[in-house]
Amino acid sequence: MDGMTEATAVREVLVVGASQAGLAASRGLRRQGHHGPITILDAEECGPYRRPEVSKGLLSGKFAPDTVAVTWPDDLELTLVTGVTAERLDAGRRVVTARQDDIVREFAYDGLVVATVAAARPVPLDVVPSGVHTLRTVADSLRMRAELEAAEAIVMVGAGFIGLEVAAVAAELGKRVTVVEPAPVPLERVLGRAFGAHIAAVHRGRGVDLRGGVGMARLDTDAEGAVTGVELTDGTRLAASLVLFAAGSVPAVDWLEDSGATLDNGVRCDATCAVEGLTDVVAAGDVAGWWNPLYGRRMRVEHWTNAIEQGGYAARRLLGRHDPAGFSSAPYFWSDQFGMRLQSIGSTTGHDAVEIIEHEGDTMIVGYGIEGRLVAVAGIDAGKAVNRYRKAVLSGADLASVRPADRVVA
Ligand code: FAD
Repeated sequence: MDGMTEATAVREVLVVGASQAGLAASRGLRRQGHHGPITILDAEECGPYRRPEVSKGLLSGKFAPDTVAVTWPDDLELTLVTGVTAERLDAGRRVVTARQDDIVREFAYDGLVVATVAAARPVPLDVVPSGVHTLRTVADSLRMRAELEAAEAIVMVGAGFIGLEVAAVAAELGKRVTVVEPAPVPLERVLGRAFGAHIAAVHRGRGVDLRGGVGMARLDTDAEGAVTGVELTDGTRLAASLVLFAAGSVPAVDWLEDSGATLDNGVRCDATCAVEGLTDVVAAGDVAGWWNPLYGRRMRVEHWTNAIEQGGYAARRLLGRHDPAGFSSAPYFWSDQFGMRLQSIGSTTGHDAVEIIEHEGDTMIVGYGIEGRLVAVAGIDAGKAVNRYRKAVLSGADLASVRPADRVVA
């Protein structure tokens, strides 16, 4: 078996990253009858939680940290070790070295699941002024929430999903919110112009000052080093006591350097989520760049549902009980902004056609095609309708078959 020893040899499993992918892998191992020890490590102290609430219910104050915590049944028999950061993988000895404050510990394994985070892209400054945030964890969210209460003017740098969700939360709290985005239309690259323009109109209608085609040039600070404003690339100056830098994420794979794993926008895996260059090591979730047979190309997906599905597949892979054709996925994503729900299924990357399937009032469903084949569908306030296209996306249906004849958009 390529990159894997016989399944029976996988006695002791180590999972690095105790979030969705890591927990799904652990559940998958038990479901597949793995009785050996499972140890699951995480750098964060607090234990697993529903990360999507970091920019939604937790930030708005609707939820407290304990209500977003993720629990699992005792019969999973996991050993969870929190506050421990993996620093090195010695694949020859099958040992992960991890640090907890000043204490260095070694964790041995027969099978290893890599399920570490894609961390928030850091603010590109040597010294980050107070009042400037990135958002990825419960701790980030609570820190930002505490400052949000007192802030009047807030600037989001980046109109991706996280920037737009936070803009909506802040606007609903009555704050003056500006979002700056280098692309002319938010989300255009991912979801096309019509969809992005619709989202932008909703935000502007709710009082958000959304500015396309402009980015952050530098930050203004006071004598104490606290942010007071943002200078934009067009020379405009915006006053702000709170800034969110929401410019995407970077896979946290430092601990895999020199391990033999190929690091190339995450950790490089084959179609079956086996990490290339290593034996008995699989990867899942935001960190895994795998060959998706559905699209015939390598991709790395930062979506909640994908992390769960891929974690389950990776567990089966470790035990040799996987579908040998690989992990075929039409990734599903949702985002909540101003009470509306955006959803998408499939991958829009490289799409050459956008078709509006339905558009009535605030509801919109859009199909994306490559060379006449449906590759993804996205919707706004479309209830379960987006999911109805799952089969069509998975089968690469003819784009014309989902397109109403009278509404064709180039
Ligand atoms: P993560 O959830 O990122 O967890 C990885 C874990 O690895 C972390 O707990 C981290 O502490 C740990 N770790 C990292 N490095 C180390 C190390 N060296 N040693 C030990 N532990 C380590 N997706 C959606 O589909 N819909 C949404 O609405 C949505 N909203 C989101 C909002 C925010 C603010 C964020 C940040 C993400 C959102 N996502 C959303 C994405 C979704 O949360 C992720 O895709 C999902 O959490 C990925 O799960 P994961 O297990 O791969 O990684």
